[in-house]
Amino acid sequence: MRLVLLGPPGAGKGTQAALLSEKLGVPHISTGDLFRANIGEGTPLGVEAKSYIDAGKLVPTDVTARMVKSRLAENDAQEGFLLDGFPRTVEQAEILADHLTEQSLELDGVLNFRIAEDVVVERMLARGRADDNEETIRTRLSVYHDETAPLIEHYGDRIIPIDAEGEVDEINARAMSALGK
Ligand code: AMP
Repeated sequence: MRLVLLGPPGAGKGTQAALLSEKLGVPHISTGDLFRANIGEGTPLGVEAKSYIDAGKLVPTDVTARMVKSRLAENDAQEGFLLDGFPRTVEQAEILADHLTEQSLELDGVLNFRIAEDVVVERMLARGRADDNEETIRTRLSVYHDETAPLIEHYGDRIIPIDAEGEVDEINARAMSALGK
């Protein structure tokens, strides 16, 4: 299955993606994780991405799209993938669509994890990641509203809404059932 996971920062997409990846047998591809790995290894890509991530801003699309395309070209992603954190803008969605069309592939669906904003802030403050201070959280939420939320309309009837409030297992069961599994 080729799926995109959408939802505000702190919606628990990463946790759900890891579970779905195991159950569906396709890799979890998280742009945030890829960037953090590059930062950890001190690669040129990591050095370039770090200042944007620390500020809660989007890394430039050309850099991000190149990283995603090269990850999608790896062997384990040939039969499917769960994209977590990409696309984050309509422009990125168009790049992904073109990339898939070139290979005569298409998305099976877009899971949209829905959650109230106060729950999101609480979850982010609790996980304590480097970019999870209050100011950065505010920036990331406003980037989400301005740049990422329009993807819900963009994807239209390909959107599969999932209630992302509650326990991890419960949310996972909702996602599996929405996928007909
Ligand atoms: P995440 O782990 O998905 O919350 O991503 C952490 C940070 O990585 C974001 O706040 C952005 O700075 C950057 N990032 C992740 N995915 C993207 C993307 N698709 N486009 C631009 N920046 C991204």
